[in-house]
Amino acid sequence: MPEERALQGLRRGHDFVAQKGHQAAQTWVAPRIAGKNANTNPRPTPRPTMATHPARTVCLYKCYSSRMVRINEHYLKLKTNYLFSEIARRLKVFEAEHRGAGLIRLGIGDVTLPLQPSVIGALNDAVQEMAYAKTFRGYGPEQGYDFLRNAIVEHDYGSHGVELAVDEIFISDGGKQDSGNIQEIFAGNAVVALMDPVYPVYVLSNVMAGRSGEADIAGRYAGFVYLPCTAENGFRPTLPDRHVDLIYLCYPNNPTGSVLTRNELTKWVEYAHREEAVILYDAAYESYIRQADIPHSIYEIPGAKACAIEFRSYSKTAGFTGTRCAFTVVPNELRGHTANGDAVGLNALWFQRQSTKYNATPYIVQRAAAALYTPEGRRQTKGLIDFYLENARIIREGLQAIGLTVYGGTNSPYLWIKTSGGLSSWEFFDKLLHEAHVVSTPGAGFGPAGEGYLRLTGFGTRENTEEAVERIRTKLTF
Ligand code: PLP
Repeated sequence: MPEERALQGLRRGHDFVAQKGHQAAQTWVAPRIAGKNANTNPRPTPRPTMATHPARTVCLYKCYSSRMVRINEHYLKLKTNYLFSEIARRLKVFEAEHRGAGLIRLGIGDVTLPLQPSVIGALNDAVQEMAYAKTFRGYGPEQGYDFLRNAIVEHDYGSHGVELAVDEIFISDGGKQDSGNIQEIFAGNAVVALMDPVYPVYVLSNVMAGRSGEADIAGRYAGFVYLPCTAENGFRPTLPDRHVDLIYLCYPNNPTGSVLTRNELTKWVEYAHREEAVILYDAAYESYIRQADIPHSIYEIPGAKACAIEFRSYSKTAGFTGTRCAFTVVPNELRGHTANGDAVGLNALWFQRQSTKYNATPYIVQRAAAALYTPEGRRQTKGLIDFYLENARIIREGLQAIGLTVYGGTNSPYLWIKTSGGLSSWEFFDKLLHEAHVVSTPGAGFGPAGEGYLRLTGFGTRENTEEAVERIRTKLTF
């Protein structure tokens, strides 16, 4: 009978506090709506069921009432990036024990150079426009202003021989959002292929949407098709040996710093056509490409407009990590299918999604982004990227000189460093931290195939980059 009593109690609006730990779960609180005899109501005896989550203990009550809010339980599968919280924890401990150690952080993915003068000028002008009724802008078009979309079509694509229409460009406030949200327009049972190591957003957004089972001990989710990127394959995965529906590719790659040649990318486009799959191509680091035979866009490959969506971002191109602006290209000819086999344009679906859930990137930010396409803007942006690439060169050559194996850092701001002496990612992270006071990112945090590697970035200041290399060179013991 206790269950019946509990049901009655819950129907009256009684509440229980779910607290950490099983014992505390019995805590009684007053009814939400205090009635006349609120404190004399019989105390129901709920039977909590426990589900454990790696980050915390979650106490789930048996759903006695249809009034209880059910959560999206796919969230409980998330082996979320303990990576950055674990790094923060280790740094806190280290800093408490080594006050004034002067840590240099080269693990971060954030930039250090400020916005360039052309961007600041455009921002200032746009802010002034907002001050007058005549030039003030309110809600903008959800897909972005044509002045920016036209500039993208002309400079980002036209200059590489790719013809796109303005309505194929969707301006947003971030590549993270777009690459995380895009999965919404695909079926819940779509089979997803992911690179390993991987930018975690692709994985976690699909786990949240229920396209995976539970994660195993190594962090691989059941149901996803993992494409290992190893030194043996040059961090360029081989094609899946089975059918998949969605393929996330990121080039230049975060975290390994690898790139794909035209021939290699062509194989993926051909696979996508063969399997009627869609490639979700993250080109957030496209502006770091300096080598002539590396495609800047997947649309440079014939047929790609019929099988690929592309993501770009101004974050690492122009220091917009805090200003927020990016865009996604969904070609008009790209199609998905209903369960009945009817073809549906993905551009129309993404248009619908963005129009419903996104209310446009601020006018002043779009004006700032458009300034990047002016002659001064392009010159300044190139200078900024050259600066980070030079940092990457300093790290690469400095670490190679002391015998470390270093990948990436030529068409990419990321360096992927093999740990020495067979140390694990976290052991080498600790070694760098304790001996050189340099902060890196353990490769294992990006996926099981990242074990045995560390990621460093070229996004630091010049002074810190040089100092970090010097410390590693002189202080690291092998
Ligand atoms: N895609 C990749 C591969 C990234 O590494 C990042 C940022 O680190 C993003 C997308 C997100 O960029 P944004 O700042 O535009 O959200």
